[in-house]
Amino acid sequence: MNISFDNRFVRELPADPDTSNTRRQVYGSCYSLVDPIKTADPKLVSFSKEAADLLNLNESDCGEETFLRAFSGNKILAGMQPHAMCYGGHQFGNWAGQLGDGRAIVLGEALNKQQRHWTLQLKGAGPTPYSRTADGLAVLRSSVREYLCSEAMYHLGVPTTRALSLITTGDQVMRDMLYDGNAEYEPGAVVCRMAPSFIRFGSFQIFSSRQEYEELGQLVDFTISNYFPNVAKNHSIGTPESVVAFFEEVCSLTVKMVIEWSRVGFVHGVMNTDNMSIHGLTIDYGPYGWLDNYDPDWTPNTTDASHRRYRFGQQANIALWNCYQLANALYPLIEATEPLESALQNFQTQFAKHWQTMMASKLGLESVEETDKVLFEKLEQLLTATETDMTRFFRALANEELSYPSLVANDVYYESSHSEDYLIQLDEWLSLYSDRLSRESLSDGERFAFMNKRNPKYVFRNYLAQQAIDLSEAGDHTMVNQLLEVFRNPYDEQPEFEHFAAKRPDWARTKVGCSMLSCSS
Ligand code: AMP
Ligand code: MG
Repeated sequence: MNISFDNRFVRELPADPDTSNTRRQVYGSCYSLVDPIKTADPKLVSFSKEAADLLNLNESDCGEETFLRAFSGNKILAGMQPHAMCYGGHQFGNWAGQLGDGRAIVLGEALNKQQRHWTLQLKGAGPTPYSRTADGLAVLRSSVREYLCSEAMYHLGVPTTRALSLITTGDQVMRDMLYDGNAEYEPGAVVCRMAPSFIRFGSFQIFSSRQEYEELGQLVDFTISNYFPNVAKNHSIGTPESVVAFFEEVCSLTVKMVIEWSRVGFVHGVMNTDNMSIHGLTIDYGPYGWLDNYDPDWTPNTTDASHRRYRFGQQANIALWNCYQLANALYPLIEATEPLESALQNFQTQFAKHWQTMMASKLGLESVEETDKVLFEKLEQLLTATETDMTRFFRALANEELSYPSLVANDVYYESSHSEDYLIQLDEWLSLYSDRLSRESLSDGERFAFMNKRNPKYVFRNYLAQQAIDLSEAGDHTMVNQLLEVFRNPYDEQPEFEHFAAKRPDWARTKVGCSMLSCSS
């Protein structure tokens, strides 16, 4: 196994001069050098061959002892410079000060044969200066969730960080899963994540909050030079114009990410500004969830149960709020509010426009007509009027016969009978839809193919995650690997895996891990 490293982040940005691994406030620095801890008995549970391919590693490389040791944190390969990143963030709407990588350690930037950099990061690799009062570790439960969801999102076409490997450490980790005083030991695990970088909104906020404007400028210039070629091409680095253009691009990327979440029914669960990637990638898979029945008010995060700040239907507004916080952080480099305000305005316009295009495509419409807004709004009302499985419903629409019995036959409902009112509402919507389709040029067959590329058959339903975790904790990792396989082709019919497309079973409705998740991980 051979990986070359080219660590631009470490080379070009200010380092914490203190190299002791003690918990503290770290000023004026982008990162602190720190080594992962050694683990007792690392075992490979799974690797993603597509992620490995980005590093030019083949399947036999991933089976090597060196792979296991490197990606469990037990061996530092030549060229790696392990470090934890410093960042701050707004958590649940409040400024939380310094957070930083409390249990993530970047190993370095792999440079592949195609000359692309991939930052490799271990999650659950032991304490860092940013660990505050926690242990720096991760459990198998949350690691299975992060690993599988990252790769599922990638194959669904949703911007995301990637996951290379899932390794159990052989160590036991104490967790109070429901924060109710019942702490227990759980198996520890490490996931190796990959992304262009792990720079977050909070990476800029921390400097701004401390008035460390020189470091703020350095990080902005670094980010533009390395990751925003269009900005670098059109503007001189270090100018206010370049920072504005950078901010505009981040807003656009963020809009696109949230649109994709809406398309597939994903709820992030903890959209704190420290969990917002500057690249518009879904990052930090914690108490996320997938809509089973379509419910814009649903959040999987029990920590957020009373305010539902991060509920499905609120994600665009929160993303915008987060962009406001990023604008505030960048302001000292721009010293003008107008361009930032107009970028934020544009966020809303862009979101509305892209949302309509996305909804249209889910319905098999090639373009958006003025009156389609009504079709979409009525559809949302319909989906919430009775418990309707989002994924199965959209998939069922690619069907010659569209009627209540055909929807029942496609198992889209959680309730077994429906009121007269509902049936009238459904009929109205179906006839509106069929009128609209009559103005489209695609044949039925073409439209169904088009829709089936946008409406996934297989998503990472919460109950599937829990089943895979239960088995994995008992030492059987076959379901983890089966799901990885299924999620490679989420838009295809896979008859042998039909059961993984089933709607949520009744037992999972209120079960911990399926409908309720905490931040404990
Ligand atoms: P999250 O809610 O996962 O985004 O985490 C928020 C902050 O808490 C980040 O700074 C994490 O690095 C830190 N954190 C979460 N879990 C742990 C842990 N077990 N040990 C150390 N730091 C943690
Ligand atoms: Mg986080």
